[in-house]
Amino acid sequence: MKLNFWAVAILILGSLSANGQSGYWQQEADYKMVIDFNHKKHQFKGSQIIVYTNNSPDVLDKLYYHLYFNAFQPGSMMDTRSRNIIDADARVGDRISKLTKDEIGYQKVKSLRVNGKKVKYKVVGTILEVDIRKAKIQPGQTVKLEMKFEAQVPAQIRRSGRNNKEGIDYSMAQWYPKLSEYDYQGWHANPYIAREFHGIWGDFDVTIKLDKKYTIGASGVLQNPQKIGKGYSDVVEPNKKDKLEWNFIAENVHDFVWAADPDYQHITHTAYDGTILHFLFQPNERTTENWENLPKVMDGALKYINKRFGKYPYPVYSIIQGGDGGMEYPMATLITGERSFGSLVGVSVHEWMHSWFQMVLGTNEALYPWMDEGFTSFASAETMNYLRQEGLLTGDVSENPMAGSINGFSANHAGTEVDEPISTHADHFTTNRAYGIGSYTKGSIFLEQLQYIMGTSAFGQGMLRYFDEWKFKHPNPNDFIRIMEKESGLELDWYKEYMVNTIKYPEYAIDTIYDETLVLRQNGEMPMPLEVVVTTQKDKKEVYYIPLRIMRGEKPNEWPKDVDYNLMEDWPWTHPTYTLELNCGIEKIKKIEINPTINFIDLDRKNNIWPREEEEEEEEEEEEEK
Ligand SMILES: [Zn+2]
Repeated sequence: MKLNFWAVAILILGSLSANGQSGYWQQEADYKMVIDFNHKKHQFKGSQIIVYTNNSPDVLDKLYYHLYFNAFQPGSMMDTRSRNIIDADARVGDRISKLTKDEIGYQKVKSLRVNGKKVKYKVVGTILEVDIRKAKIQPGQTVKLEMKFEAQVPAQIRRSGRNNKEGIDYSMAQWYPKLSEYDYQGWHANPYIAREFHGIWGDFDVTIKLDKKYTIGASGVLQNPQKIGKGYSDVVEPNKKDKLEWNFIAENVHDFVWAADPDYQHITHTAYDGTILHFLFQPNERTTENWENLPKVMDGALKYINKRFGKYPYPVYSIIQGGDGGMEYPMATLITGERSFGSLVGVSVHEWMHSWFQMVLGTNEALYPWMDEGFTSFASAETMNYLRQEGLLTGDVSENPMAGSINGFSANHAGTEVDEPISTHADHFTTNRAYGIGSYTKGSIFLEQLQYIMGTSAFGQGMLRYFDEWKFKHPNPNDFIRIMEKESGLELDWYKEYMVNTIKYPEYAIDTIYDETLVLRQNGEMPMPLEVVVTTQKDKKEVYYIPLRIMRGEKPNEWPKDVDYNLMEDWPWTHPTYTLELNCGIEKIKKIEINPTINFIDLDRKNNIWPREEEEEEEEEEEEEK
């Protein structure tokens, strides 16, 4: 068969755009670590073996490790950043600059070998730079990286550390030398300044030798419960040693966390689908009752989440009191525990949702924090609404749990001078506010709007397909939007480009109305398909749906049967106005509204409504003056 040039070109282009990352590959790092912990000095000695497989097409002549604890030293990048940013995180502030020698954190590498060969390395802040020009790693090659290290646990300032403000002894996050990820965008040796992470998929086998007074909660499954007890096993083998040796295995993860305290109470709960849930907290009048009520609610949440966002794939999940707020890790979270019940459920649901959008769909959250925090926030809002609906949590059920976020974002942040495009690397936003609102709020609105554009059914299918096709990989924004394009049959690249790379937003208005003609105006810089809802004097609802021409299609009608639904001509985004012929005259109309269900950002909502509410007020004022 002979193909002409254009046929070949179309075939190639077609196959490229039909896939996100074509020829996808990812590195693998399997960890085996043994930690000997000295709780009197808050120090530990560790040995680490990483079996590292280079699945990239590249020869590697260097390696990078993260040494996160080194951030907790006066003058570090995290310290300096915190003292210079205009809206510092109150938890950090200038606290790092005041740490004494005994309070700082450090990770010291004592030796490093690649396949038995000593290699040169250099510590540069929180990054270990390793020169392996004499032990290059070939494509497809598996090597053994053997390290001995020593560490001191810093006073708790951000995420990890000792003696958090609720008195948890050890919050052990970012605690071990962690190999940096190398992917199609190269190395990701980001210095740690307290933001986001990106890790290598692999299995973790971790043994912690720690004074026997402590109870540990951790990522993974405890392998030797009968030697430990502590709520992991009812039968315990006698042990005369001072230390217990805890062995956890976590498979198919990209990080490992643990926490320890002598006072932990440990509740185990088997969820409806067999997932084992661990709850570890320090009992007191501010915790006990709420934590005892938590398992039932989390079990209920899992039912909804499994169905809506994909089946939780790990055997266990541990909710552990520790850290400084809420922080997600594979198969576990560290949260502060002295909260109201609503707040405890809220943080637990949010952190667990990260299991779907960070721990299983391992997006590079330093580059795309909105795909993690935003998607997680969207899913948490829905899950919390579900819990209220099921009576597992008190509070009002909302028709659209995202409406408040959309209104708040539109009114207070969108397009202000603080606003930055969410394509900004997490570390490099100018303010914490721009990072926070961009990642959490705009990221969650990203999904709500997409659901509105695609229709709820295609969106739901798309979210499940995204989970299924990209679990245990590193999807990027294009991978995600391609799934949604396939599921909806719509072209959606324009949507991703506007939302991710710009700070342009929709602003639609009712311009004029006469007889049966309605003129709509686009004042904003970002186009959106519109739903215009007309309520007649007899309270009948008519929906006029105007797709965008660049969507190359439209969503199906999902309105209730009694709503009069009208699919209109496309709106070409270049056209400032759009003329709509209504089914009835102005005299029969009570109200016209664009986006009444608040599914997308609109910089000025007042002009979405006819008759204009402010005009009414003005008329009233005029009447008063008379
Ligand atoms: Zn989060």
